[in-house]
Amino acid sequence: MARRIPYVLGLLAGIIPMLALRPAALKSQTPAAGGAPVDMLQLTAEAQTWLTDLIRVNTTNPPGNELEAAKYIQGVLQKENIPADILEMKPGRGIVVARLQARPLPDSSKALLLLAHLDVVGVDRAKWSVDPFAATEKGEYIYGRGAIDDKGMVAANLAAFIGLKRSGTRLSRDVIFLADDDEEQGGDASIRAVIERYWDKIACGFALNEGGNVVLQNGKVQYVAIQTSEKVAYNVTVTATGTSGHASIPQKDNAVVHLAAAVQKVGTLETPLHLLTMTRRYFEQLGPVEDEDTAKWIRALETSDRADLAALRLAAMNPMWNSMLRDTIAPTQLTAGVRANVIPSQASANLNIRLLPGNSILDVIDQMQKAVNDPQIKFTVQPDAGPSAPSSSITSELYQTIEHLAPREFPGAPVVPYLSPWYTDSSYLRLHNVQSYGLVPFPLTEADLLRMHGDDERLPIASFRRGVDFLYKAVHEFVTK
Ligand SMILES: [Zn+2]
Repeated sequence: MARRIPYVLGLLAGIIPMLALRPAALKSQTPAAGGAPVDMLQLTAEAQTWLTDLIRVNTTNPPGNELEAAKYIQGVLQKENIPADILEMKPGRGIVVARLQARPLPDSSKALLLLAHLDVVGVDRAKWSVDPFAATEKGEYIYGRGAIDDKGMVAANLAAFIGLKRSGTRLSRDVIFLADDDEEQGGDASIRAVIERYWDKIACGFALNEGGNVVLQNGKVQYVAIQTSEKVAYNVTVTATGTSGHASIPQKDNAVVHLAAAVQKVGTLETPLHLLTMTRRYFEQLGPVEDEDTAKWIRALETSDRADLAALRLAAMNPMWNSMLRDTIAPTQLTAGVRANVIPSQASANLNIRLLPGNSILDVIDQMQKAVNDPQIKFTVQPDAGPSAPSSSITSELYQTIEHLAPREFPGAPVVPYLSPWYTDSSYLRLHNVQSYGLVPFPLTEADLLRMHGDDERLPIASFRRGVDFLYKAVHEFVTK
């Protein structure tokens, strides 16, 4: 067993703050059916150790160095007598995969994949108050790059997986554990390559991954958002051309001026609003826990005369909702000029565009061309578009398991299906007919969520332990069905 935290320390670290979230949250040691009781106090304390150990392996991508973290997990699994394969995707870049088998063997379309990624984004060390790779405990938090994204989930998945093994639960379906690599860059060691090369090792019909949230407000879980689909990312270059020349004699066709005007117009362009079925369901479920003014506009979405106005109001209220309701255009990079006193013949900008599933990039370019209306401006779609995958179902057994469990675990908290504006590995799984769901199980405030990819990323210890418990229950319930 990996460096277990002494029982009393575990109590101090975990239980006292946890009481604030929900009394007796971890007392239930046996999920409804199947297997022996698992000591959740011990398991969550061990999971905390795995999390801190993993943060201490610097897997900043690039270069990644995930192999070392994969080997650490292999060691943890071996102590539980669970064989685990390391698959080296590239030198230094490895993933770890392990399986608990159901008997009799069902077909792989029933199998559940527990997925999380080992790599993390880089840090600006000067802006951190602690060493980002020391997993410092400060106050009620563990600080470290990857604490939320995504090593917390790696440790929680590992705990659920090991909990099932320890309980001796009779599985109705295989459970596969996968800690993969290269998620943050989506390069040639990423899930796409794993699927291409090793699908036989991870073939599944269901998956749990990052992407959704347990949303905490004023000490109470407000709702549980399960990510069921994602927007599709494009990069489009907007280029202005003009006459180059001496800066002392400017002309009206200055490329920098034309580019600036174009960027201003596309950067503030309000593309048409689309209320997708999944987003409609999201708002329906969310309405009852929102304040009265917001709830009023959510109800108006269902009216024939005020639906358009309601969508407009909701988009204006919250940047996240705006992103869920329309295609978005974000100028991200500017390139122009070689000398301070030379007017360049060309200036360009990168536009990062996120499309709602099913929408066309050509439509967005058409809207931008009309808004800019400038013959000196040209738009070019870059070939690095993200995958466009179908949504996961909200009537599948896995979704419904979580939908029923969450309000029992977090009283009054509805489950809402969530279209994320960002990419996750689930897209490639969905393209392989996998019902993949995003659920980071830790109750987190918006303020803590915003630290993902930012400075002083941190995870409240009580939330981590609560999330491990919740995930274990969800997985246990699903794999005994
Ligand atoms: Zn992530």
